[in-house]
Amino acid sequence: QPDLPAESSAPAHSKKHHAAKRDYRTLALQLKPQREGLPIFSARASIIQQVRSHPTVIIVGETGSGKTTQIPQYLLESGFTSNTRAIAVTQPRRVAATSIAKRVAEEVGTSLGGRVGYTIRFEDCSSDKTRLRFCTDGLLLREILSDPLLRRYSVVILDEAHERTLRTDILLGMLKDIQRERARLALLNQQHLELTETATRQYEEPEDHQWSHRDHRSHGTHVTFDTPQEPEKEEEQEEEELQFEDQPTPVIDDVHGDVTGIDELKVIVMSATLDAERFSGYFDSAPILYVAGRQFPVTTYYTTTPQADYLDSAHLATLQIHTETPSNSGDVLVFLSGQEDIENVERLLLESAASFPPGVPALLPCPIFAALPQAQQSRVFDPAPEFTRKIILATNIAETSLTIPGIRHVIDSGVHKVRGFDPRIGESLLVEPISKSSARQRTGRAGREAAGFCYRLYTEADYAQLAEDSVPEIKRCQLSMVVLQLKAAGVADVMQFNFMDRPSKKALKHALLELFALEALDDHGELTAMGRWMSEFPLEPTYAKVIYASQKAGCTREAIDVVSLLSVDSLFYVPADKREESNAAQLVFKSTEGDHLTFLNLLRAYTKVNGDREWCQEHFVNRRNMRHVLDVRQQLNRLCARLGLDIDRSCGTDLDAVLKCFLSGFFHNCALLQPDGTYRSLSGSQTVHIHPGSSLFAKKVPAIFYDQLVFTNKLHARAVSAADPLWIAQASPKLYGRLNSGAS
Ligand code: ADP
Ligand code: MG
Repeated sequence: QPDLPAESSAPAHSKKHHAAKRDYRTLALQLKPQREGLPIFSARASIIQQVRSHPTVIIVGETGSGKTTQIPQYLLESGFTSNTRAIAVTQPRRVAATSIAKRVAEEVGTSLGGRVGYTIRFEDCSSDKTRLRFCTDGLLLREILSDPLLRRYSVVILDEAHERTLRTDILLGMLKDIQRERARLALLNQQHLELTETATRQYEEPEDHQWSHRDHRSHGTHVTFDTPQEPEKEEEQEEEELQFEDQPTPVIDDVHGDVTGIDELKVIVMSATLDAERFSGYFDSAPILYVAGRQFPVTTYYTTTPQADYLDSAHLATLQIHTETPSNSGDVLVFLSGQEDIENVERLLLESAASFPPGVPALLPCPIFAALPQAQQSRVFDPAPEFTRKIILATNIAETSLTIPGIRHVIDSGVHKVRGFDPRIGESLLVEPISKSSARQRTGRAGREAAGFCYRLYTEADYAQLAEDSVPEIKRCQLSMVVLQLKAAGVADVMQFNFMDRPSKKALKHALLELFALEALDDHGELTAMGRWMSEFPLEPTYAKVIYASQKAGCTREAIDVVSLLSVDSLFYVPADKREESNAAQLVFKSTEGDHLTFLNLLRAYTKVNGDREWCQEHFVNRRNMRHVLDVRQQLNRLCARLGLDIDRSCGTDLDAVLKCFLSGFFHNCALLQPDGTYRSLSGSQTVHIHPGSSLFAKKVPAIFYDQLVFTNKLHARAVSAADPLWIAQASPKLYGRLNSGAS
């Protein structure tokens, strides 16, 4: 795997700084014609005007029309920010947030983390200079806990709203409330301000702040990278020096404290599909702006028979396109379900490429998926070397969130990975058929720049059977994390929350019960101290509970290690033809207690050899993922230390303590050995199989707990460890006490 250097973030000194500034400007100027050639450019004035005159605007535009990269810039250029208010743009996925931020920083002509930055879980690349912040929807949701009125923002843009992720849906509801409250306070403020003449000048008319622009220059302590545009636009502003401090006596609100300078919150909802009326209806008939896209015809092919193995088919279809069309006829984009699929196809392609006869051009697989490190993401966007064709292997991240230039061929596996929830099995990951609407989006990616081709790895009859649209995530996944966040944000009765699509009562009740069993809620449904802590912690409540419990158990270091290790799909890679060899090589890490401790052993060994590349190869260790694990661990350590935990508390060799801690969060994910040798889940009486990759595979222990269930042809438990049945009962006296009394 390539060792791309991480981007240097070292503070540059002034000479270098000026050179860098010039570089930023040069690049931005080069990109300007491209920006102005986007379909959305002609709608610039009307977008700004609509946002000025309405609290909420819905914007619909085809993928690639320029919504995500341009609209935030239009607002930035038009005085929608101030020195105390920024613009937030949310994305459902981390990769989208980081790579779009990078692109926009280039277009604006600033360093990433300067005027344009991003913040995602475990990674903050922003500063107090940041006026345009790209973030994940989950991150903004957590920000509401510490900043209930989102006072840091003048505008929140909810991007990719059509995806209807769980967190976007919850944000929609919360933003509506925040907007209403801020409008009320702004009105109060305005009435108050009108009484004093000094106040009126400072109030939000951007044209009044030309002076602050100049003032800012004279300070000279920081070098800021301005937008490279000529100051021709009279609205273009940088109100860095706008001060709110010496405003007259603030209006005090007993609930929210000091509300000086509160102004309206603008909300923009952006979607790539046409069904925007629902969003508009939800936001009191907000106006909908449609932006036309540009689409060339795409020829679509289906397979004549259903494919037994879509990975094989994807591999073969790619080779066929590559060898049968000239390499300058465009790159290939392959849609797969997840990282594991992607890495498998990547390996297959590299193996095939190794035996290409002379004359066949080179092929460059470029993976892109949620957990891909930032440094490797840019490869997808960089032009391929000459006589080389890029093969982009992507999850549905490339469906609407990212537009990758140069694609002419799309291969659609027809599947994606979704989180599913069934109270009897808990949460699981499912590889499922996509919807027709997704299939159409995928096809559209081939016709962005010229006529293209789409190869669907399924039959036309199968296409006809696909659902029209995907079910919103809120209707099909575990709600405990969002219920916890709603509770922490002060929503006392989550059953009455204004959901755009209401989840079932049963699912909500289940979430409440789980939070109660985790002791995040008390008998009255009120947040406990631990519950509040858990809500601020950027992990599912189960993991948060494990880390919380590890303090008392004295194994925080190990708990953080293992939680970090569980944050990636796979720590090893097992080539199909070297299964035995790789199993043998991994024996050295194996713990008889199961995967959690096996992973811990792996981490310790990996640290000892400093992540040595050859060592990783010899042991079939997925180095890319291990490095991600170290990143996550570092972030978790920092965060835990900030939240007051002693991260050095270690249990040494008494590793049972670690397993018990995990059980205190994962008591729902337990299964007991049956007389017939199978395992049955404790919460739903389902037959559960230990994943073949597990160190407990084919072992018989009285009880197990697992990190997650994956459903392919049967229910597979992944990351499994042995548990003493007694520990399970102790792990949640509340739950099992209740179940027992319920049964009698
Ligand atoms: P939308 O949000 O409407 O789907 P975007 O704003 O994401 O559109 O993309 C607009 C255009 O910017 C695309 O046509 C794409 O070619 C270009 N673009 C976006 N990101 C990059 C990038 N990282 N590198 C090169 N071009 C990019
Ligand atoms: Mg977009």
